[in-house]
Amino acid sequence: MENAIISKEKLPELFTQIIAKNKLFAPVKENGFSLFKEVEKASEIDTSYVNTRVPPKSIIFKQTETLFHFTPGKKGNVEKIPEENEKIVIYAIRTCDAKAFALLDPVFIGDFEDPYYSARRRNSVLIGLSCNNPGPACFCTSFDDSPASIEYVDILFTDLGYKYYIEGNSEIGKKFLEDHKTLFDAASGEDQKSRDKVEREAIGKIKRTMKLTGIVEKLDGMFDHPIWYESARKCIGCGTCTYLCPTCHCFDMQDESTLNKGARIRVWDSCMYPEYTHHASGHNPRPARMNRVRNRVYHKFNYFPKNTEVFGCTGCSRCIEYCSANIDIIEIINKIGEVKE
Ligand code: SF4
Ligand code: SF4
Repeated sequence: MENAIISKEKLPELFTQIIAKNKLFAPVKENGFSLFKEVEKASEIDTSYVNTRVPPKSIIFKQTETLFHFTPGKKGNVEKIPEENEKIVIYAIRTCDAKAFALLDPVFIGDFEDPYYSARRRNSVLIGLSCNNPGPACFCTSFDDSPASIEYVDILFTDLGYKYYIEGNSEIGKKFLEDHKTLFDAASGEDQKSRDKVEREAIGKIKRTMKLTGIVEKLDGMFDHPIWYESARKCIGCGTCTYLCPTCHCFDMQDESTLNKGARIRVWDSCMYPEYTHHASGHNPRPARMNRVRNRVYHKFNYFPKNTEVFGCTGCSRCIEYCSANIDIIEIINKIGEVKE
């Protein structure tokens, strides 16, 4: 089964079936904010959101994770954490956040495999929900993606009012649809047309454009340009832009121990903090905010595309929406594009 329809009345039953065999993560509302959380019943799910403040990368690449326990001393040993093998379903992920996993995968499952990330990623099914009403700063279309891109999800749901149009993409997605087929009806040609209309309208609602043509090459010659001082002038170094970015993946390792036992813990880190590059010698290669803002832009729009052939940004707009200094990455990139060489 590839394309199908499910009426909204049957959704609770679908979630009940999913929860019976998987951990289900879906958007819920807490204190007025949407976030992805493990849910135990369908009634907890709330898809009336543009996007969650914290991206669902936190489900696979956890904000804080114990890597192993140890006992110190000559007779000390290391106690491994059992591999997580539970099946995970992430429901209603936006396509920009699903694409972010495609960018994180080469980092964590590339030349060196991170067993913690890779166990959860291997066991996860991504069910996308087309973004019918993108936010005012969203710009996924600048990367030739769409609010209803199917490319990065296993299955895509599109809200057609009283029903969802469902498309299976990967083999996992198609099997998932087969497993739950008693809840679905075949999609008609009219349903397909409605789905395409919803996508066209959603694309039409995206008002921001990042001009990316030639930006990788342009940045090659701009490392010492004064634009970086101007761009970083307002930055307060809070790190919000990196913590909330679905593609940022920097982390720190910390050992927490008492005399008899300890744990090695991995925590998200941010290249926007001076400590991030502070050497033990006291030297810091990125001592000023200018250096750190510049690095953030270079990493996403020069280093990452040179290494992987894709930009390290998906246009989710979180760093624009939540930056307390109103720093706008679209404005920075577009200004760089306008600089005369
Ligand atoms: S969110 Fe804004 S102020 Fe905070 S570190 Fe990022 S660019 Fe600077
Ligand atoms: S750089 Fe900003 S817009 Fe791009 S993916 Fe990260 S948070 Fe989203």
